[in-house]
Amino acid sequence: MSNNKFKILIVEDEPTICSFIYTLLDTNGYKTYVAPTCELGKSIFTSYLPDLIILDLGLPDRDGRELIHYVRQKFMTPIIVLSARTTEADKIEALDLGANDYITKPFSVREVLARVRSVLRRTSAARAESESIRFEGLEIDLRRKVCTLDGKELQLTKKEFEILALLLSNRGVIFSREEILRRIKDRAAEQKQILLSSIYLGV
Ligand code: CA
Repeated sequence: MSNNKFKILIVEDEPTICSFIYTLLDTNGYKTYVAPTCELGKSIFTSYLPDLIILDLGLPDRDGRELIHYVRQKFMTPIIVLSARTTEADKIEALDLGANDYITKPFSVREVLARVRSVLRRTSAARAESESIRFEGLEIDLRRKVCTLDGKELQLTKKEFEILALLLSNRGVIFSREEILRRIKDRAAEQKQILLSSIYLGV
């Protein structure tokens, strides 16, 4: 898989570091998103389902470990922790929570790229399997936003896809029409917030 098919989310509040990693990944062909807070990181994660997260643990609103916990409830998305915390105990704790790798600040360009490539290589096959929902002949690929029935791709609108994914991820749960619309509307609001964040960071 070429780099331009991988999406990477950087969750980091320090604009200098954020811009540095963003530029590095962008020039190496990765589709890159940035979030300066844990909450925005969660929003971008659920909206875009990136292939990899680079996460700073010291965030202004919450501890970055909360994001690891949030992602791991449902997804195997690889996470590289980026932190100024250098003790052995901090590293072990992050790995125990489900991070795949750990980079200590300050870091070099080559180190970041090498770890990104290595983590993506190790995890991409296993993850593709876990990020699809299957029900009888129906298969929904949440990352690529493609839905197939008996192997044939269905032509769904964005809204139809969202509704189907919502219902299949929550089998057995009954949603009212209002609840479905509210959930879809919430996602639209998140997209707007993400755009504003990108403007704030100037990337
Ligand atoms: Ca920080």
